[in-house]
Amino acid sequence: MSVELPVSRDVARVVRIVTGSAIAAVVVLAVTRGVAAAQAPLCPAPADISWSPAKPVAGTLFRVHVNSPSLNAMTRVSHARVANERLHFRTVGDSTSAFAAAPVDSGNGLTLTLTCADGTNTIVKIPTRAAEYPLERLKVAPRFSAKPDSALVARQRREAERASAVSRASHETPALWTEPFALPRTTRITSDFGGGRTFNGAVTSRHMGTDYAGAVGAPVRATNRGVVRLVDSFYLGGNVIYIDHGAGFVTAYLHLSKQLVAEGDTVARGAVIGHVGATGRVTGPHLHFIARYGSVTFDPKSLFETTGSR
Ligand SMILES: [Zn+2]
Repeated sequence: MSVELPVSRDVARVVRIVTGSAIAAVVVLAVTRGVAAAQAPLCPAPADISWSPAKPVAGTLFRVHVNSPSLNAMTRVSHARVANERLHFRTVGDSTSAFAAAPVDSGNGLTLTLTCADGTNTIVKIPTRAAEYPLERLKVAPRFSAKPDSALVARQRREAERASAVSRASHETPALWTEPFALPRTTRITSDFGGGRTFNGAVTSRHMGTDYAGAVGAPVRATNRGVVRLVDSFYLGGNVIYIDHGAGFVTAYLHLSKQLVAEGDTVARGAVIGHVGATGRVTGPHLHFIARYGSVTFDPKSLFETTGSR
């Protein structure tokens, strides 16, 4: 294209040159855009995804990292999942990461799936290692206990469902915390997470929380900032408090003698929310503390360690 103007030849030449450059620039821009579109990853590449530790232990919280070459590609990720739970990626500076939890029975590995806006998936296998939780092997057949009556079964199912609803809702709550999770009590642990009983090689029950020592009336603190979602009296858990910390994190405090918060309250990290008690199915006063990522219950020790490291 050239532009002829009724002016002197010199001016006309300048106009032609300027117009020519402008066209060239437009062409270059179009080519650049074409190259960019062709090279843009549709989804982050598996090689750009890592996790720590390298082999998460079944029953613990761990971190998933997306390395810098794929940071732009993260904008194309519509959702990510590990063990059926959504991941909530957060970018701080030039580092993008999310927490994920390995269920206690995930000793054979996990699958991370990133689903991108165009429907493509990036699937990464995460190796795990089986936990060495203490197991009490029963050598004799346990006595058959009387079948609990159906009303009791229904009550326990209803209570478990209410706790599950808190877990599901937590994925919809934005992260309400920025600091690492802190201990609910600083006393000694009387029973660790994961201990189980086996009968004929099969795990029949497992301790899915950590027990902290305490006399009736001793303080129980919120492990991090969050919204109280459930304050009730459960058959097994006794007086319970469930806190939704957002971004999938839920903590629960069981067997309390006193609940000092109400559903809907926002609590600060370290706030006294209740007192140690011996309500529900217990042999003596203690705090049974539960940590969950979505509906995956994991070892609270890994909650304090993993959220404290960057
Ligand atoms: Zn316990």
